[in-house]
Amino acid sequence: MVDYLIVGAGLFGATVARGLMDSGKSCLVIDRRHEIGGNCATTRLNGVVVHQYGPHIFHTNSAEIWRFAQRYCEFQAYTNTPKARTKSGLYSLPFNMHTFEEFWGITDPEAARKKIYREEAKPRPVNLEEKAVAMVGRELYEEFILGYTLKQWGRDPRDLPPSIIGRIPVRFTYDNNYYDHIYQGIPKDGYSALVANLLSGAEILLGIDYLLDRSRLDKMARHVIYTGSLDALCDFRFGRLPYRSITFDTQYMPQENFQSHAVINCCSLDEPHTRSTEHKHFSGKSSSCTYVTREIPCEYDGSNIPCYPINDHTNNELHAKYRSLVAGRERFSYGGRLAQYRYMDMDMVIAAAIKLAKKLNAKYA
Ligand code: FAD
Repeated sequence: MVDYLIVGAGLFGATVARGLMDSGKSCLVIDRRHEIGGNCATTRLNGVVVHQYGPHIFHTNSAEIWRFAQRYCEFQAYTNTPKARTKSGLYSLPFNMHTFEEFWGITDPEAARKKIYREEAKPRPVNLEEKAVAMVGRELYEEFILGYTLKQWGRDPRDLPPSIIGRIPVRFTYDNNYYDHIYQGIPKDGYSALVANLLSGAEILLGIDYLLDRSRLDKMARHVIYTGSLDALCDFRFGRLPYRSITFDTQYMPQENFQSHAVINCCSLDEPHTRSTEHKHFSGKSSSCTYVTREIPCEYDGSNIPCYPINDHTNNELHAKYRSLVAGRERFSYGGRLAQYRYMDMDMVIAAAIKLAKKLNAKYA
């Protein structure tokens, strides 16, 4: 018998396993996928590190989390400076003076400000459209956000809650850096190498669905840590937690360069995908071929990948019901982006996993 059974070999499961193993505990880590890394998983194809589930850039303001991640892999510096392709051309993101000059020919920050904020912002936006227009103005909204959102969520932005989008950065400086965070980079050998190093010393079993063999697996450990969805764990007793999914279409191209940039957001409805990623540009390493992943959003049907939780009031309430159903279970903990039913960046996932490991180490000292 092991001390812990950890369900899910994603970043949360791997980080919590590391924290427990460092305190002398034994961990069995299982995943229903046939690979480790969860949604951060990467693979190396013809020398190119390919992010299998969309581009992942590690960014954080926490020196502690940054130092932690550095212990398990070598990072290369990378600044996320995505581009946006709209009907009228290719522009810089996030919205900044480069964008305003490219789109309107404006170089004066005050003129750009006036153009963006000429419309009265609604004090309490009731839908995504009102919130986005308040943040970036109607013209940028219609060119850059409307088509992208329709594709991303499969719904009219007027039918989506404002809470679904966070703050959209708007800068009146020439600064293409997408993130405000102090630390930013990408593991040189990919995220799967990072996760493999975190898991060093754990027993790992892949291709095993915990929910199909729960009672036998539970008997193998003193404590279970579950990083999957709570609705599935509770046999969908109150119904399914809705998600938006993505089809990741990765293509090999026998050419050196396809789009000259790592990440391009595709805002127009003329193309079905929301993003096009050419992986080799993350490292800048030369290779005679290239790989491009296009992300095509689709409905989540329970068999594809649950990517983005649809965090409206009803669904959050549903998740709260599941949370209270599993709360207080002896010998059981949960965590990670699926169990929490919320979008979490990787630094948040690592921080939450370290916290859980510390709590369990104190409990079973
Ligand atoms: P997951 O990676 O989902 O891992 C959970 C694991 O549990 C999975 O491997 C799953 O197979 C397994 N599992 C679930 N149920 C079972 C079961 N019943 N039995 C066995 N195994 C099970 N974050 C950033 O910081 N920067 C980025 O640039 C970034 N880009 C992103 C792009 C996209 C398109 C998406 C969707 C997310 C992005 N993220 C990014 C977020 C990042 O992917 C997550 O923070 C991270 O993957 C969450 O790790 P996790 O371990 O919580 O979940």
